[in-house]
Amino acid sequence: IIIANWKMNFLRDQANLYVKKLIKKLGNKENIEVGIASQDLFLTDLIKLTENTPISIVAQNAYWENFGPFTGETSPKALANVGVDYVMLGHFERRELFNETNSTVNLKVRTALNNGMDVIVDVEELEQVAPVLEGVSEEQMQQIIIGFEPTFAIGTGMSASTKGAEDVAEQIRKTVRKLYGSDVADSTRILYGGSVNRDNLKSLIKQKDIDGVLVGKAALDFQSFWELVEIIENSL
Ligand code: 13P
Repeated sequence: IIIANWKMNFLRDQANLYVKKLIKKLGNKENIEVGIASQDLFLTDLIKLTENTPISIVAQNAYWENFGPFTGETSPKALANVGVDYVMLGHFERRELFNETNSTVNLKVRTALNNGMDVIVDVEELEQVAPVLEGVSEEQMQQIIIGFEPTFAIGTGMSASTKGAEDVAEQIRKTVRKLYGSDVADSTRILYGGSVNRDNLKSLIKQKDIDGVLVGKAALDFQSFWELVEIIENSL
């Protein structure tokens, strides 16, 4: 699985054009899951464009209530209602710039799950895994993907070393095993994010506990993102 996190970039036409190119290149490939995490405004356009394609559309955040007087927030129920596939929660930039904490991320995770959404829950360090999953049932773990994105590596051009990333991913799987048992731990997908590029992707993706990647900067240019998709495909 490879997810382009567009963050707060692009205007509507650019977003649509990017996804049209992706649809064309990807064809019916089903051995690799490609996701696009877009700002909310473009989600419905992208959902329409990607109907009957293997591309997943991802929201970058959602609130922990479904309805109410929460001006400016996005309802997870509304995201599910318009057909968003995944919601990403707890990204480093949300924590750093918008004061999100393990406990607010956990509230959001639980509400999104209760709406039947699949969740990519991001952590920057091992210690965040248990708190953000508090109250999540064994069954709901099927809807969870864990993104490991170390703070120092996000947007800095300084990726974690392959070994460093694998070591933490392995520890994350161990933590999930302790909390939920082996079946859940073995089937939970763990993604690495933080300055992924064409030079480091090949070795990252070979690691046994890294099941995919989240890509920021290197996904802003379509051609450069496509090269990453191909690297993953060739490594399968
Ligand atoms: P960069 O690839 O720019 O480091 O961003 C990673 C990221 O935040 C993905 O969610």
